[in-house]
Amino acid sequence: HDYTKDDIRQMAEDENVQFLRLMFTDLFGTIKNVEVPISQLGKLLDNKLMFDGSSIDGFVRIEESDMYLYPDLSTWMIFPWSSERGKIARVICEVYTPDGKPFPGDPRNNLIRVLKDMRDAGFTDFNIGPEPEFFLFKMDEDGKPTTTLNDSGSYFDMAPMDLGENCRREIVLTLEEMGFDVEAAHHEVAPGQHEIDFKYADALTAADNIQTFKLVVKTVARKFGLYATFMPKPLAGINGSGMHLNMSLFTKDGNAFFDEKGDIQLSETAYHFLGGLLEHARSFTAICNPTVNSYKRLVPGYEAPVYVAWSGSNRSPLIRVPNSRGLSTRLELRSVDPSANPYLAIAAVLEAGLDGLKKQLVPEESVDRNIYRMDAEERTENHITNLPDTLHNALKDLSADEVMKKAMGPHLFPSFIEAKNLEYDAYRTQVSKWERDQYLELY
Ligand code: ADP
Ligand code: GLU
Ligand code: MG
Ligand code: MG
Repeated sequence: HDYTKDDIRQMAEDENVQFLRLMFTDLFGTIKNVEVPISQLGKLLDNKLMFDGSSIDGFVRIEESDMYLYPDLSTWMIFPWSSERGKIARVICEVYTPDGKPFPGDPRNNLIRVLKDMRDAGFTDFNIGPEPEFFLFKMDEDGKPTTTLNDSGSYFDMAPMDLGENCRREIVLTLEEMGFDVEAAHHEVAPGQHEIDFKYADALTAADNIQTFKLVVKTVARKFGLYATFMPKPLAGINGSGMHLNMSLFTKDGNAFFDEKGDIQLSETAYHFLGGLLEHARSFTAICNPTVNSYKRLVPGYEAPVYVAWSGSNRSPLIRVPNSRGLSTRLELRSVDPSANPYLAIAAVLEAGLDGLKKQLVPEESVDRNIYRMDAEERTENHITNLPDTLHNALKDLSADEVMKKAMGPHLFPSFIEAKNLEYDAYRTQVSKWERDQYLELY
């Protein structure tokens, strides 16, 4: 929506908005809220609203803590739920420094920067259609999540197996009230696991939508006494949760990945972009799969990718080309999980693809058989490499990639790597139940 300041003032008054929730996203992908009363609306609209950035992960040092929130008016939205005293509106903000510059440590600003490079390369839009999956767990009396799943359903099951169905329906209705175009909602393969797909949008809107989506899912689930988690692999032995990203580049003439005369009707642009994705796949893994837990999902046997390859039909590779052509011609990257910061993940895959275009990279042959059934030798013959198997190894690949450095910029790149190395170290020095079960009595 192209709202003006006056539109916003009018809507706030007409709908009795009492609170403003100013949203932005930190380095780790967590949504941060600064809530202010409606009396601050004028200040907000004049870009004069200040906040203390020093408490936000990966943002700033103490000595440069004053930051400003500039509202992106197009993201104004009144929540369908309200407080006792009136409605709550949210607006997504860009973080600015006191001297009026976009703060480079804000992942959203960073995506805006990378999107300029895309326009310089001659494209109008990078379209993203995400497929976020999540689990619904029961909560205990204290409102804390348990690890008890709320149903024993499976893929496309119908009630009464799918007890999460009412909750999911309410989520879908709430999303629609908030302007989402929900395309599909279904039970996923694992018990207690669900997927809701909404229509693709330009990269920035899609990233904003992903953040709003998580907030809605968690808020509605609570009303049903359920805890929704986007943790990539909450339980061993069953499927984890992915967030496949469908992507395409558009020019003013339409979908630049489609070419009626191309091999499997893909354009040269699509092939070079695909080449770039494959080239940088190992190094953007740390960004698209940024937690220790992410790597417990990227193992054989649970529909998550393990190998760097692409296919026009099979679902086992990293990148799949779904059958639709024309406007819907797209590449589906299947490694991404919902713990990824969507602004960073989208910036990373876009920069990887643009690098493929710039260097005219050509992908290896597609692999149209089940890679899980190949042995190591066959995979080597087919030039199929592995995705990194731990956050530690993923960070090594990321650190060495100049194109990814460009994708994150000089502020975010080192902060991200440092913070994630600390996270991995904290994990590495734990002693787990598995180890005690395995070794305590053996030695
Ligand atoms: P799957 O085949 O993996 O089940 P879905 O049908 O669940 O895929 O999801 C398809 C997603 O792709 C939706 O979010 C849809 O809006 C999106 N999509 C469709 N066309 C495009 C496009 N041109 N660019 C990016 N995403 C697209
Ligand atoms: N849950 C699977 C994953 O971890 C994906 C299942 C699907 O293809 O939708 O990526
Ligand atoms: Mg799915
Ligand atoms: Mg998919």
